[in-house]
Amino acid sequence: MDFVKKHIVKPGESVNLKSVRTEPDGPFEGKEEAREYVEETIQKLRALQYRLYVEGKQSLLIVLQAPDAAGKDGLIRKTLGRMNPQGVRSYPFKVPTPIEQAHDFLWRVHQCTPAAGQISIFNRSHYEDVLVVRVEDLVPKRVWSKRYEIINQFESLLAERGTRILKFYLHISPKEQLERFKERLDYPEKHWKLNVGDYEARDRWPKYLEAYEDVFKKCSTKDAPWFIIPADKKWYRDAAVASIVHETLQEMDPQLPTVQVDLDEIRRLYERELAEMDND
Ligand code: ADP
Repeated sequence: MDFVKKHIVKPGESVNLKSVRTEPDGPFEGKEEAREYVEETIQKLRALQYRLYVEGKQSLLIVLQAPDAAGKDGLIRKTLGRMNPQGVRSYPFKVPTPIEQAHDFLWRVHQCTPAAGQISIFNRSHYEDVLVVRVEDLVPKRVWSKRYEIINQFESLLAERGTRILKFYLHISPKEQLERFKERLDYPEKHWKLNVGDYEARDRWPKYLEAYEDVFKKCSTKDAPWFIIPADKKWYRDAAVASIVHETLQEMDPQLPTVQVDLDEIRRLYERELAEMDND
């Protein structure tokens, strides 16, 4: 299945999130088949990431946005985080600190964009500045409404430098979210994640959907497309994202440097030294 084609938001496309499925419709028979596919894809991702790292020219930025409990952390832990940590970093963006607040909204983000050869994963991102900030009324409309264009320009600056950008929205249903909140009650090691604010934010779900729809319409560009991933099933979420990242890295086609040495000469040197060691 072509996951890119299935889930991409075309530039300027209007999305009605309520009519987008949160459940998968193929291609896997079920969990087992999807898990196998993820394992195979991770191996391919690792091979391509090695080339990207060694080539040291291009970079990849993966942005993850989602309602609470949609699985950003799980996706990083179980799938994206299994690439070589030498070349992959994950950055969580929380409520801005006083020093971050004292700068423009892209200041903290720009420092975390990937250097040549690297992959950055954003766990939340600069999009919070047109999502939570808009819905919770943290700055006036005249401030946040200018940010879509600023974000597009920022992302095209990164693209110009050789950074590919993939932005994923993990789409879960309110019912699935509630189930996952409930599950957290059953596991003591997950109790720390519980907070009343997450339940209260459910009342503003329609406002968040509206804010996301605006993001998709204004900020899904050729250089930095958005993908809406059905996320009620964790195995589908992982498979779809892994596949899209894999396809993108394949397109980027990172190359190992050409061999600069005479391999026969190196082999001869090696064999001579071994022979000398044996004689000693
Ligand atoms: P997560 O839910 O990502 O696992 P937290 O529970 O610590 O992590 O939540 C981070 C919080 O930071 C979220 O409520 C998010 O809306 C908030 N946040 C992130 N960026 C901003 C921002 N620019 N302005 C205000 N709040 C933000």
